[in-house]
Amino acid sequence: MLFDDLEDDTETIASVLVPVAVPTAYTYRVPKGAHVCPGTIVKVPLGPREVIGAVWDVTPDAGINPKKLKEISRIFEETRPLDAELRQFIDWVANWTLAPPGMVLRMVLRSEEALEPETPIAGVRRLAGMEPDRKTPARARVLETMEDGFAWTKSGLSHAAGVSVSVIDGLLKQGVLEVVEMPAAPPLPKPDIDYARVDLTETQKKAADGIRAAFEKGASVSLIDGVTGSGKTEVYFEAIAEALKRGKQALILVPEIALTEQFLRRFEQRFGVYPAEWHSEITPKKRARVWRGVASGDVRVVIGARSALFLPFLELGLIVVDEEHDTAFKQDDRVPYSARDMAVVRGHISKFPVVLASATPSVESRVNAEQGRYNRFILPDRASGAALPDLQAVDMRAEGPERGRWIAPPLLNAIRSAFADGAQSLLFLNRRGYAPLTLCRKCGHRFQCPHCSAWLVEHRFQKRLNCHHCGHSESVPEACPSCSSTDSLVACGPGVERIAEEVSGLFPEARTLVLSSDIQGGPDRLRREMKVVEEGGADIVIGTQLVAKGHNFPKMRLVGVIDADLGLAHGDPRAAEKTFQLLAQVTGRAGRVTGDGAGFLQTYAPDHPVIKALLSSDRDAFYNAEIEARQATGLPPFGRLAALVISGPDKAFTEGYSRAILRTAPMHEAITILGPAEAALAMVRGRHRYRLLALAPRQIDLQGYIRAWLSEAPKPVKGLRVQIDIDPQHFM
Ligand code: ADP
Ligand code: ZN
Ligand code: ZN
Repeated sequence: MLFDDLEDDTETIASVLVPVAVPTAYTYRVPKGAHVCPGTIVKVPLGPREVIGAVWDVTPDAGINPKKLKEISRIFEETRPLDAELRQFIDWVANWTLAPPGMVLRMVLRSEEALEPETPIAGVRRLAGMEPDRKTPARARVLETMEDGFAWTKSGLSHAAGVSVSVIDGLLKQGVLEVVEMPAAPPLPKPDIDYARVDLTETQKKAADGIRAAFEKGASVSLIDGVTGSGKTEVYFEAIAEALKRGKQALILVPEIALTEQFLRRFEQRFGVYPAEWHSEITPKKRARVWRGVASGDVRVVIGARSALFLPFLELGLIVVDEEHDTAFKQDDRVPYSARDMAVVRGHISKFPVVLASATPSVESRVNAEQGRYNRFILPDRASGAALPDLQAVDMRAEGPERGRWIAPPLLNAIRSAFADGAQSLLFLNRRGYAPLTLCRKCGHRFQCPHCSAWLVEHRFQKRLNCHHCGHSESVPEACPSCSSTDSLVACGPGVERIAEEVSGLFPEARTLVLSSDIQGGPDRLRREMKVVEEGGADIVIGTQLVAKGHNFPKMRLVGVIDADLGLAHGDPRAAEKTFQLLAQVTGRAGRVTGDGAGFLQTYAPDHPVIKALLSSDRDAFYNAEIEARQATGLPPFGRLAALVISGPDKAFTEGYSRAILRTAPMHEAITILGPAEAALAMVRGRHRYRLLALAPRQIDLQGYIRAWLSEAPKPVKGLRVQIDIDPQHFM
């Protein structure tokens, strides 16, 4: 026993990773008699505040005088320590993105509420054998309601029995009822893998079998490459069933979580219960429940936005990335990571399969499949047997609409005949608001955001001019702020609201609906409106890219793309790919069930390769040409890209600093550095932005190069910031 005493007296120290931007873990003293291990979640003092961190696998610095060390102030003993695989994943992501590991940990510990056990709520229960002195009708109803012996909340009981709470209080006083603690959240029902199986088609079955077989192999990646409506979802539901059968949890990552009511219902139809949701719109309380449920294993399936990848699953055994090509999986701020790519990493570390699904796979995933790194399952036909929509271009140079209108006659005729037949039409324009630019007809003044190099977008319903980059908003003025003329302001170009106005003028009797992410009433309203469209309650829908993603609108026959050229103008090496994907997805909404779908692409460049590939429905032609071009120029996935975005409050100073950074770039024969160039969005929120771009062959350790480079570069001062973006997806 002497030995135990000795050990208790020994002061121990531990490394704790804290959720701030520092390169490594800090050393803390462990309270006497307490025990921590790698992964233990703790609260520690950090400067003037206390933060939540985790004990990390780093040898603590024993050289520091223990008296100078601060002590861990709290150990969350109720919470399971983060397991070794999750810790390894965090370190891996930090290493890959060059982000401080504490900032990656922060994404795991995002729900502080989750660490506190939920306080039970008070309930009442019948005490056996006790009867009230007088049995009034109200009292009798209460006792009848409670016959099954379960506990009730007071309000629930008063509702169910149709009595006032005072009746219940009276029974409590008499000792007929007693107060008990009830868990705040009832236990979750588990998905039932046999709830409603679907008869898969031959090709779907082959894919499902192939993915099922992958579970035997440990880590693997499968790409379900199938046209819109081919049943990709049904196929990966089988993968989820397999994971559940093996006693594992499953995660489905989707790009636009707020809009998946339809998806949740579909999951329920297959598995009998709703999956847990994880995204920014859910309440902190619900978030905490999901976090705890995932960690304890109570939650078996999560559907979430990209950040769900950092949940502390007890026994994760499958990740599905739906619409894997979507750039919403890329986070651009703080820790710039790609949830799709990091999902593959998480599967690799924990040795489970990852399934990617898309009708328009990313060029990266296509190449990985072609080169044999990923399994590929092709679903060439729609499950309903419906044909893919018939697409045609509207050459706006020859057959465009009159001035001030945006819908060309051929498209207009098609809408007219769809409407006459009681079919739905969708007009797609990836621009929110009424008009992207407002100017003064008299003096030419243009309304620009005071904080960003961007035009203010008119939102006519709200009577406001909004900046879509920083949230700046001002009311539309009566007079021009520059020349004071009144009635001189004109809207230039269309947004969805303006298209809706044109449609209302042309089809006054049609039910039109605008679907855009800034819809008033938030995600709930949006969900409801999606459902309206799904059920045929709208005739003409005008939408932004929201409507392009995965929705099944059975009555949608026609899709008109108002401006097919919109995405092609950027200095973005991925512009062609993104445009192809977006337009293929949005036109894929047409005729999913009926098979008589049609699509119109309004364009000034009908001969552009992207437009031509779309028109001929020749996906392979597009991918082959794009892959060849990437190969020739050494762009991803054949080369590697990293962007350095340098920003600061003063323009000249920021530019000078960017040049100073460039000068310290180590010479490397295989690495090309471009820039510094002013960013396409030269100013955001008052910060001026410059970009450097590093291009390297695939086999080069680009992160290592940049790490060495920045360790030699002058440190940012005076509000300067350097943001590193490995494998950038957005080039603004
Ligand atoms: P995708 O995910 O490829 O767009 P979905 O899985 O949404 O395709 O399938 C499109 C539609 O076809 C859905 O309504 C789905 O229920 C239906 N479907 C898919 N596969 C089958 C099948 N084997 N049997 C019956 N209906 C199916
Ligand atoms: Zn003016
Ligand atoms: Zn702005």
